[in-house]
Amino acid sequence: MKHNDFEFDNYFKNYPDKDGYFGKYGGSYIPENLQKAMAEITEAYFTICKSSKFVSELRRIRKEFQGRPTPISHLERLSNSLGNVQLYVKREDLNHSGAHKLNHCMGEALLAKYMGKKKVIAETGAGQHGVALATAAAYFGLECDIYMGSVDIKKQAPNVARMKILGANVVEVTHGLATLKEAVDAAFEAYSREYKDAIYCIGSVLGPHPFPMMVRDFQSVIGVEAREQFMSMTGELPDAVVACVGGGSNAMGLFSGFLNDPVDIYGIEPLGRGEKLGDHAASLKYGTEGVMHGFNSIMLKDEKGEPAPVYSVASGLDYPSSGPEHAFLQTIGRVKYDVINDDETIDAFFTLSRMEGIIPAIESSHAVAYGIKLAKQMERGSVLINLSGRGDKDMDYIIEKYGIR
Ligand SMILES: *Cc1c(COP(=O)(O)O)cnc(C)c1O
Repeated sequence: MKHNDFEFDNYFKNYPDKDGYFGKYGGSYIPENLQKAMAEITEAYFTICKSSKFVSELRRIRKEFQGRPTPISHLERLSNSLGNVQLYVKREDLNHSGAHKLNHCMGEALLAKYMGKKKVIAETGAGQHGVALATAAAYFGLECDIYMGSVDIKKQAPNVARMKILGANVVEVTHGLATLKEAVDAAFEAYSREYKDAIYCIGSVLGPHPFPMMVRDFQSVIGVEAREQFMSMTGELPDAVVACVGGGSNAMGLFSGFLNDPVDIYGIEPLGRGEKLGDHAASLKYGTEGVMHGFNSIMLKDEKGEPAPVYSVASGLDYPSSGPEHAFLQTIGRVKYDVINDDETIDAFFTLSRMEGIIPAIESSHAVAYGIKLAKQMERGSVLINLSGRGDKDMDYIIEKYGIR
């Protein structure tokens, strides 16, 4: 299948290449001692992902523990209120622990077990990745060290409590601004000391090779299921698919199922309060090429070329870059990246809750808002939206900031 003269038939075989590049994006920009550790993970992953024992164990876990397959729901009332376009949501909010993140955390932790590691290490900002990884670690009986800035520890008390209840060790990072960036550095440092006994588990399609590829592969279960379910529900493909993009893992999961199809694909970034640098986290729309956190992609930079401060009402989307595969898919024109601001997001949050009985995560509400916009623009057809997570975690914040509408 061709899109803009780009051949997608062998896409997953050719992208990334053996050095982890999607075109010029991706790669592995890390210190020498970590290169060795990453090479070990890459080799183990390539062996293990072909092992039928690993594949069938992961499949069983997804079914018996995670609650997969997650369904697709037809948003009948909402669609009818907008016109003729039919909206559907892929219910990643129904994953155990409430979001798509468990898809890659269970894969990464199972890989750690197969590699004979005792521990998983990660950083977390809002705490969602930390909770998902702590869940996976508890399931497999692995130790779990989660690095978190002290500012975030104060802000995200319920997720810190969840991680501790699940048996994880939350390591407080106090230097610098004491938020996500410092936590990433501290987690990398810990990993370079402990890589013999531990593996690092990245929370999205980010970081050095092989993570963008590995996390995409683990998340691709969303796209595989969604394509099959949508076809059997409606007898055809959706006209468009939509997902929100922070680092880009839930989006890559859904998109990977439709790259080779005549389907329009939209990745939605957070426009926050507006277009000024510091008011949003729309890295693909407003960023430029650069290297951070071990990979080359498109990122938002300050005047010194360092990662710029970013903002979004959705804490899971406020990251100054996006996965290298998204940078690539934007460059070749296969995926269209667009933005939704805070106000549109909150409207969509209440609309979906009131009209369909589904309370979405604020991150996912960005995709819902865009799906609603598309439905108003298109005359007919169907749109499949990835509902990456449920909104329970956002309840207190919404009530405090916006009240009950
Ligand atoms: C973390 C998170 C996101 C953003 O991460 P991606 O890697 O871009 O998918 C989106 N939705 C929810 C519910 C999340 O928890």
